[in-house]
Amino acid sequence: MQRFTQYIKSLFLLEFMKGMRVTGGYLFARKFTVQYPEEKAPISPRFRGLHALRRYPNGEERCIACKLCEAVCPALAITIESEQREDGTRRTTRYDIDLTKCIFCGYCEESCPVDSIVETHIYEYHGEKRGDLNMTKERLLAVGDKYEKQIAAYRRADADYR
Ligand code: SF4
Ligand code: SF4
Repeated sequence: MQRFTQYIKSLFLLEFMKGMRVTGGYLFARKFTVQYPEEKAPISPRFRGLHALRRYPNGEERCIACKLCEAVCPALAITIESEQREDGTRRTTRYDIDLTKCIFCGYCEESCPVDSIVETHIYEYHGEKRGDLNMTKERLLAVGDKYEKQIAAYRRADADYR
């Protein structure tokens, strides 16, 4: 009896028709594919992308070289060197983040007492040769300067979200 049922099924292509019904259903359903890069999927205000170092509105660097971010980084991706300035304040002379080690955990951002090191919403970046993904202090500050408005906006959104 089972063999007969199978014979009838294969004779009338029943399994094939079942498959085509599923295919047909998806043919007219709403599409979920995002046409990247023309279209972009929404991201959370807490998204952790490329790092940046921020400044105060008067142009002064926020970072006070406390090295908390370096100490807390589980991937040992941050390297900081610092010295005291003539006015008695302390600032970094070197601040590197090796993005090939970074696991984007956000601990550096969380630990910073002056909201200096942050992770932006930028995810479109790449490296082509050795060292391209080593973010130096100058490069981190440049990202901060360029995207400060956007960074300030999502930091506020993140605070509201909490
Ligand atoms: S996001 Fe995490 S792994 Fe990356 S630099 Fe910050 S603390 Fe280190
Ligand atoms: S970025 Fe923040 S946590 Fe890291 S050394 Fe500077 S002030 Fe300290």
